[in-house]
Amino acid sequence: MVPEEVIKELEAAVGAGNLSTDDAMLYVYGFDVSDVTGKPDIVVRPGTVEEVAGCVKVCAKHKLPVIPRGAGSGATGGAVAPTGGVVVDLTRMNKILELDLANLQVAVQPGVVIDQLNQALKPHKFCYPVIPGSDKMATMGGVIANDASGMRAFKYGTAKDYVLGATFVMPDGSVVPFGCKALKNVAGLDLLRLFAGSEGTLGIMAEFRVKVLPLPPSRGVLVAYFEDLETAGKAVINTYQAGIVPSAVEIMEKSALEVVNKYRPQAGVKVAEAMLLFELEGDLDFVESQARSIGYVLDALAVGDRQFSADPAEAERLWSARSAVGAATSVLEEGHNRVYEGEDICVPLTEIPRTLRKLRELRDKYRLGTVIFGHISIGSLHPAITIRKSDERDWKAMKELAAEIHAWALSVGGTVTGEHGIGVARKEYMAIMHPGAYEVMKRIKRALDPDNIMNPGKIF
Ligand SMILES: Cc1cc2nc3c(=O)[nH]c(=O)nc-3n(C[C@H](O)[C@H](O)[C@H](O)COP(=O)(O)OP(=O)(O)OC[C@H]3O[C@@H](n4cnc5c(N)ncnc54)[C@H](O)[C@@H]3O)c2cc1C
Repeated sequence: MVPEEVIKELEAAVGAGNLSTDDAMLYVYGFDVSDVTGKPDIVVRPGTVEEVAGCVKVCAKHKLPVIPRGAGSGATGGAVAPTGGVVVDLTRMNKILELDLANLQVAVQPGVVIDQLNQALKPHKFCYPVIPGSDKMATMGGVIANDASGMRAFKYGTAKDYVLGATFVMPDGSVVPFGCKALKNVAGLDLLRLFAGSEGTLGIMAEFRVKVLPLPPSRGVLVAYFEDLETAGKAVINTYQAGIVPSAVEIMEKSALEVVNKYRPQAGVKVAEAMLLFELEGDLDFVESQARSIGYVLDALAVGDRQFSADPAEAERLWSARSAVGAATSVLEEGHNRVYEGEDICVPLTEIPRTLRKLRELRDKYRLGTVIFGHISIGSLHPAITIRKSDERDWKAMKELAAEIHAWALSVGGTVTGEHGIGVARKEYMAIMHPGAYEVMKRIKRALDPDNIMNPGKIF
């Protein structure tokens, strides 16, 4: 129980209408999409940088945990409160502060949703190319704090590559602006890259200046069907070696094609061992010539079964199977739900075919419904495991399966998380993956947050 006096101090910082201790409200804040849960003691919803700082100062004084939160779409328990404390919900701070397109940048508050920013940029023919699958809900704060990315990460990079400046609210409540309007700045230690991906464990990011790019005038989508996984893996590497950099290359393994067919039969998706989707962007001539070049790569591999379109509606139709796969996992087996464990590995490109085979083997071994897809362009694979959540045997098998998937990714030189982060769910892997570097990270954490109030229990 948080003493009444602390609640009064927080109310003074944020305004009485923007604080809640209502049990039902707190319950809702106890989840993200993972299975990690934790109800906070208090939720505050600040509207300004000063209010964020005021709340953090009160928490620092009373040594209360501070849990920054955007949309709560994270998949590792990062925004929930397993040890209680104060959730700082940043979604009221949802204004685009400045469109400075001549300087290729915008200033935003942390609660701006990615799609909201892209809708605002579209009429000006600009875009923010960090587009996770959750772009219609995820916030700028959550995306930058997780260094999120998505299908276009190989060509366009991840969230940290676009941050030019941020206002940090440090664990003692002090406000520290950093960065500038120049597109390049190497003055001193790169605090932007330190905070991007720190999952709210070093402070709250309360304002951002981010780089944006001109919107490509045309888009084409090429889909190709493969009768074996090795050839699909080879097609990606050969595409790069032919000098082509698609904006996305996605894979849907047979399980993903089957489940989309079941979920949306009208999409008429063909079932093969694997399908690759190549997205190409640029002016129309460029898109068409890149598609022809990928065609030569596929010809050399004797892959004839393919379709291409640069017509916006047809390209969208070709892409639609990929858009549906996340939702489709829910119909894989009745009574089974997706769990976000063992689902975010990233492996070197040359290991993709072996990894796809391994994932199939493990799926057969554990007999759990698992749909396999991913951003093959960069080696990110999402084996989406589904279980009966009320069945303890399913939980046990799922945990073992996730551990084997992680062990495999590490054994081939990969990682247990390519994009969703560590949070609570994958904390045990920090010491396994980077024993020496983890100690350095802990020293940084202790130096900036000696009382460990910022998002305790996450990463560290
Ligand atoms: C359907 C679906 C698809 C997804 N697809 C992708 C994908 O393609 N790529 C990908 O990378 N992720 C993906 N995710 C995971 C998730 O959406 C992203 O990690 C996203 O970055 C989370 O944003 P959020 O606003 O929901 O953050 P939250 O879940 O609220 O928080 C995430 C973390 O950021 C911290 N945080 C939030 N705001 C701030 C702030 N202002 N300052 C400091 N710390 C902060 C929180 O404490 C927490 O640790 C997906 C999730 C879903 C449900």
